[in-house]
Amino acid sequence: MPTELTQAIVTGYTDYKDNDRMLTLFSAERGRIDCKARNCRKPTSALLSCTQPFVFGDFELFSSNDRVTVNTCDVRETFYPLREDVDRFMTASVCTQLCNTVIKHESPDEQLFSLLYHVLSFLAYSDSDPNDLLIAFLLHYLDLAGYRPSLTRCAVCRRDIRADAVLFYSAEAGGVVCAACPHGGKPVSKLALEAMRRILLLSHDELNRVVLKPALREELFPLLKKSCANMLGSGDRAVALLDQIG
Ligand SMILES: [Zn+2]
Repeated sequence: MPTELTQAIVTGYTDYKDNDRMLTLFSAERGRIDCKARNCRKPTSALLSCTQPFVFGDFELFSSNDRVTVNTCDVRETFYPLREDVDRFMTASVCTQLCNTVIKHESPDEQLFSLLYHVLSFLAYSDSDPNDLLIAFLLHYLDLAGYRPSLTRCAVCRRDIRADAVLFYSAEAGGVVCAACPHGGKPVSKLALEAMRRILLLSHDELNRVVLKPALREELFPLLKKSCANMLGSGDRAVALLDQIG
């Protein structure tokens, strides 16, 4: 009857019965873990505080017959301020759901874990605009998933486009497209392309340095949303949540 300790973030939950909860945990070392937390919704339960969304802690898990149950949890961080601000809560929910869509059982993903951890920290404890943090998250998320948008070369003909005046962005093509190539994209400014290049150069612990002007934010968000929809499929739950944001 093995028990094990793993550091993880609560990235989703479903309530069942009167007091139980099914948790989705994202562990850097193990990827996705779906586990039961029995009686965790009772006000007197020791698991009450650690089974909330976004909680980061050391979970002691018990496995039996392919089922995993939470025994105890030593909470390291609750990111509590996220629960006091609707926009920040919503942004954090999108980020965790986007992670849930791609993480797999027994498949470590330290880079994606680091991205999520830092963005949740900045959302909870910095003054950064949640929309800027979301844009930074989406770009790095696409990059880690192998869908980094092409930003210096036309995604169709591969020509260097940095001297071109007229450019387009096509999620389907995989990034920027020159005026000579066929595309179904929308015009994109050189400023937007430069901003994306710079954001991708930042490490995860520097993403609070992303400060975008409103016009640039409004240009970038739909492009990245389309790239995510293109990668995950328009029926994906995380994509539906992105649609609710804007
Ligand atoms: Zn081209």
